[in-house]
Amino acid sequence: MGLQVARSDMVLAYIGLGGNLDSGAIQPAQTLLQAASDLDQLPHTRLMQLSPLYRSAPIGYDDQPDFINAVALLQTRLSAIELLQHLQALELQHGRQRSTLQRNGPRTLDLDLLLYGEHGEQCIDLPTLQVPHPRLHQRAFVLRPLADIAPALHIPGQGPLGDLLPQVSAQVVRQLPADPNGNAALT
Ligand code: ADP
Ligand code: MG
Repeated sequence: MGLQVARSDMVLAYIGLGGNLDSGAIQPAQTLLQAASDLDQLPHTRLMQLSPLYRSAPIGYDDQPDFINAVALLQTRLSAIELLQHLQALELQHGRQRSTLQRNGPRTLDLDLLLYGEHGEQCIDLPTLQVPHPRLHQRAFVLRPLADIAPALHIPGQGPLGDLLPQVSAQVVRQLPADPNGNAALT
């Protein structure tokens, strides 16, 4: 009898959510909460955790509104590339204009694949997809919500999350209060 090695192709994916423009009448915090629920609806994918929402000052290009940010933890059977394609489709559904080529510029919704793998440990270096996300370790608006849902995480190539956080302590990020109905904050 052949030995069947049980292989789970379920992996974890950490997604960075951000936005600082209204999508029609919908404000960024609401867009992020809707996007989190959209992530839960992706094929072969479950939303396991959503961090609190944070407000952060824009980086790089200052003349724009503050950003709202959060991190979601997914369990998924999608490949990293499939997941990226779904993230980009969701950005468009939420009014993202990709014509502005400006990195760190204003947008209704940005969904970045931060980490991917059985424990979020995979390293991917393709022209269209780098994982871990190349700038995640420099950004308090990613590290803070990441620490809320996975404080013991190790970032491949960078080290323990707990060692990275002090290095970004100069960046002001403020956690939004949870709304009275539970889930997360609305402003
Ligand atoms: P940014 O998030 O850096 O401000 P965009 O959201 O406009 O910029 O993404 C630009 C490109 O970054 C995308 O077309 C995508 O192919 C690429 N990219 C590379 N790695 C990743 C990743 N880990 N997550 C999301 N996009 C990525
Ligand atoms: Mg992006």
